[in-house]
Amino acid sequence: MVVAWHRPTKIIIHTKAITNNVKNELARLPEGKELFAVVKANGYGHGAVQTAQAAVAGGATGFCVSNLDEGVELREAGFNQPILVLNMIPVDALTLAIVHDLSITAGNKEWLENAANYLNKHKLKHALSLHLKVDTGMGRIGFLTPKEVVDAVTFIQESAVLEWEGIYTHFSTADQADETYWKQQQQRFLNTLEQLPFLPKYVHVSNSATALWHDEKIGNMIRFGVAMYGLNPSGHALTEPYPLQPALELVSELIQVKRLPEGEGIGYGETYITEKPEWIGTIPIGYADGWLRNLQGFSVLVEGFLCEIVGRVCMDQIMIRLPHEVPLGTKVTLIGKNQEKEITMQEVADQMSTIHYEVACILGTRIPREYQD
Ligand SMILES: *Cc1c(COP(=O)(O)O)cnc(C)c1O
Repeated sequence: MVVAWHRPTKIIIHTKAITNNVKNELARLPEGKELFAVVKANGYGHGAVQTAQAAVAGGATGFCVSNLDEGVELREAGFNQPILVLNMIPVDALTLAIVHDLSITAGNKEWLENAANYLNKHKLKHALSLHLKVDTGMGRIGFLTPKEVVDAVTFIQESAVLEWEGIYTHFSTADQADETYWKQQQQRFLNTLEQLPFLPKYVHVSNSATALWHDEKIGNMIRFGVAMYGLNPSGHALTEPYPLQPALELVSELIQVKRLPEGEGIGYGETYITEKPEWIGTIPIGYADGWLRNLQGFSVLVEGFLCEIVGRVCMDQIMIRLPHEVPLGTKVTLIGKNQEKEITMQEVADQMSTIHYEVACILGTRIPREYQD
């Protein structure tokens, strides 16, 4: 996919916001507790490398990614901090993980055995660093019982090609006010920890929501994701303990402005018809950029005015109704502040009946990212 540099639509990332969010979170953590910046999925659409740089400036001491390639991207950009891959990877790619000094998650016995078999056949100088994932109620990846975890530890201890670096779990309801299930998960993790012969270098349980809203005493590192980008992990449910600073702005410009007479159809399917003579503007962004069709009826900001998206969202363009004539090239804000008004990623998510995580991830790779302090 090429990046459309020659189009006025762009994402502006305010790296200072990322740095500040990391700093503010670290200031709340107990002395010595580390923050790993979660930069999977191209830094939730913000750019993995630039986000990682901004996070380090704020005090992050490691990174979490979702797959091997994302880890390699960070190494190739020159980062030498610990990097944890939050998933299992195909075992025949493990030599790459060792070469790039990436820690990998192990979540079941079969994978662990396959990994050891592969590495015994393709011996490298260094052992593979592993974090054991414990499934305490997410039902995704991870060892279920304390016995399975203890057996995995024994297996790693007895292997010359594996090294035990960490243990962790993931909470499924940390973004809700009701702590009942969260506490059950915590207890299950504690039960597992109690059975272990010793603890590895990293013990970690907190995603953003746990870090923000739960008094989490377990662990010496947090996996800080969505809140680092300035987004409230709970959506509307819980109030942020300190103001999170949104990092992402989505802007464009009007490439056509015209006065249409009453009764003109706008867009595919003629779903909007002008009710009177109206000023209609066209903006070069569409569903191919992740600005999806269900954003018809939502608004964008022009000169501080909310302007409705009228007619269907096209693949590459949208039309809006303007309050009056404005010059070609006038700035349009789709996410972010414009004069006194603001459209948040949460509002876009609400209109799309989804969560802001999804909005951030689907903003297309076609849109250039520009980085500002
Ligand atoms: C994505 C992810 C995180 C970060 O979650 P946020 O809600 O964005 O903070 C932490 N841990 C794991 C295992 C993840 O997959």
